[in-house]
Amino acid sequence: MEMQLYNTDGREAQTFKPIEEGKAGLYCCGPTVYNYAHIGNMRPYTIQDVLKRALTYFGYDVNHVMNITDVGHLTDDGDEGEDKMIKAAREKGMSVWDIARFFEDAFWKDLERLNISRPTVSCRATDHIQDMIDMISTLEEKGYTYISGGNVYFDTSKFPEYGKMALLDRQELKEGARVGVDENKRNYTDFVLWFTKSKFENQAMVWDSPWGKGYPGWHIECSAMSSKYLGPHFDFHCGGIDHVPVHHTNEIAQSEAANGCKWVNYWVHNEFILMKTGKMSKSKGNFLTIQSLVDEGYDALDYRYLLLGGHYRSQLVFSWESLDGARSARESLVRKIKALLEESQAAAELNEKALVYMKDFEQHLADDLNTPRCLADIWSLLKDKELGADQKLALIFKMDGLLGLKLEEEASREEEKVSLDGEIEALIEERNQARKDKNFARSDEIRDELLARGIKIIDTPQGTTWEKV
Ligand code: AMP
Ligand code: ZN
Repeated sequence: MEMQLYNTDGREAQTFKPIEEGKAGLYCCGPTVYNYAHIGNMRPYTIQDVLKRALTYFGYDVNHVMNITDVGHLTDDGDEGEDKMIKAAREKGMSVWDIARFFEDAFWKDLERLNISRPTVSCRATDHIQDMIDMISTLEEKGYTYISGGNVYFDTSKFPEYGKMALLDRQELKEGARVGVDENKRNYTDFVLWFTKSKFENQAMVWDSPWGKGYPGWHIECSAMSSKYLGPHFDFHCGGIDHVPVHHTNEIAQSEAANGCKWVNYWVHNEFILMKTGKMSKSKGNFLTIQSLVDEGYDALDYRYLLLGGHYRSQLVFSWESLDGARSARESLVRKIKALLEESQAAAELNEKALVYMKDFEQHLADDLNTPRCLADIWSLLKDKELGADQKLALIFKMDGLLGLKLEEEASREEEKVSLDGEIEALIEERNQARKDKNFARSDEIRDELLARGIKIIDTPQGTTWEKV
């Protein structure tokens, strides 16, 4: 089935045509690891995971590359401000390298909890400094750069298509409107490729380069690493909508200038997750993490369900009420599947009627990843009076392979939990009887057996209860 995806470059839904038959190259801007990722950051990775699952399902061999920004991403998206890593290191009293590894590990843990598969290649900026230096050297040789105030700048006036994807009107943009004024720039849209002069002292991460000891600007890492792992021209580039006017605009300019060809065919951008109070911001500290949802008693998959319930190109305002709604919907789905598992006889091939449901689902997924419709498809097939339990389960498991809610695993776990609870209750019953019969040897034996399994028996005047220890 052909996939239609909304391409920011052109502002329209387009049919996906791969550059190479049967293959899809997918680059996703990864996290800046100076703090925990917030729940808004998890939206791009979740939808990119669905995109990857969909492409794989529709027959493409996906090469998914994601960077880890562990250097060079400053406090705002322009070239002003302080290196976020250094700021976090100072605040936490750790080295910048330790900060980066600590938050990178936390990021992988969050992905796992959300059932987001790891990229084929994940690449740290600090492991690719030479690739960035090579790309900057190419840009220099081709005449796209200048040195000013000790830093190497990309001269955007040399790249006539600058801002085309973002629909930037360069005439209308006023100097300093996007970023603070940098007197060293020839044009206000120019950006730093390599810093040797930082206005901040004690720059902890610096490398030798043809332009002197220093560190790369943020944008160059994505261009250098994507070209390295996906070649100079690839299919998809993804990220949040905030990256359109600056980060991705600058990435396009330097990549196309260096590589001398079109860089990316499809730009897939997600809209923002907002808090009721407005924008979530890591630098302002007003954000929720996956861990904070877990601490409130939610499962990370409740949040995945919430995300899938909205279209990725619409803004979504997070609220605890909406997370409650997602949780009760997901839990009810799991319970229904558990009931079907009890009823079901054997794994089934999809019959004609089930295939119609599957086709609809595929169409909704292929229609710019319409996950809310896909979820609705699952609910409507559950209500179908003609489809048997075997058919329903086969359909749901196939669909969930694309949505990633771990429904089969969750329902089986639920089943295990119920049977474990039943077993414990039966042993407690037996112990109560043993105590009535004054068979204290047996009652102690049961207590010890349960304790060995992590269950503590509590005798109260109202009866016997238990808890996990
Ligand atoms: P960062 O770690 O800040 O570089 O951001 C990682 C990804 O999250 C990028 O693709 C951002 O565009 C995206 N992003 C940041 N904030 C939000 C938000 N509130 N909602 C959705 N996506 C976001
Ligand atoms: Zn990027």
